[in-house]
Amino acid sequence: MKNMSKFLKKWNSKHRINLLLALFVITAAAGLVYVRYYSSYAPQPLSSSANEEPSPHWAHGQVALLDSASRGWDIHFTRAIANWESNGALNFSIVPGDESEECFIYVGYMNFCTINDPDYGVLALGTYGHIPDSGHITDALFIFNDGALFDKTSVFGNVFWRNKLLCQYMGWSSGLDYRYKDGTDSCMKYMTWQSDQTQIKRQQDPDVTDLTNMMAKYIDHTDGIIPPPKITKPENGQVFNLTSNFGELVEIRENGLLEIYRLDRKDGSEQITFIQKKSK
Ligand SMILES: [Zn+2]
Repeated sequence: MKNMSKFLKKWNSKHRINLLLALFVITAAAGLVYVRYYSSYAPQPLSSSANEEPSPHWAHGQVALLDSASRGWDIHFTRAIANWESNGALNFSIVPGDESEECFIYVGYMNFCTINDPDYGVLALGTYGHIPDSGHITDALFIFNDGALFDKTSVFGNVFWRNKLLCQYMGWSSGLDYRYKDGTDSCMKYMTWQSDQTQIKRQQDPDVTDLTNMMAKYIDHTDGIIPPPKITKPENGQVFNLTSNFGELVEIRENGLLEIYRLDRKDGSEQITFIQKKSK
């Protein structure tokens, strides 16, 4: 017994310091990992400061998604919805649309529409209306060109590009920015046919950062009463004119392959249009 307590005393004095040191190192390392993780996956705030406009978002995470696309998109649609719903930030109610009608803007809906025009230089076009004061998105429409995306001779005519663009425009129409520099494994990453095409397989889905940003936008954020999910196609819409004036050109990249426009709708809202061309 005596020997034991002696041993413990000795052990204590010698090892307590080591134990404390070890705990300190572990805590410091964990803190460092957390800081590094947080700085690379920092959630996007609704607005970064009090005098800035809130970033675009729907008034609640229950979004009516109108399916006006051609049937070849069904498999991609299922995948993109499952991805964006995976962390519970968003919930889509799918409303069957009419693939034969022109592409309409419907207030209160996100409309997914396709055209088939091999001669049209646009690969994908997204547009949404939002109120700058509140950040609320009032309507969204994205239009994909099957003439390129289902053309096997085109660099864009494959499942990877279709998954990527659908994921990207659903994310964008929910208020997320596309990504330019970072995010190689993200569908939100902007890339063109000039980029390394082997990357496209890794860019079919949202990554952790995208999902975190989406969660930051919608968690605990409900403006007003959550409406019941819309289940029927809306009656009154406005045809989107593909050749009309999209407003002021506010961003241009890749020698004009990517363009962002802003249009003042003169009713307190503005319309943002995101165009990706297949070639100049
Ligand atoms: Zn809001």
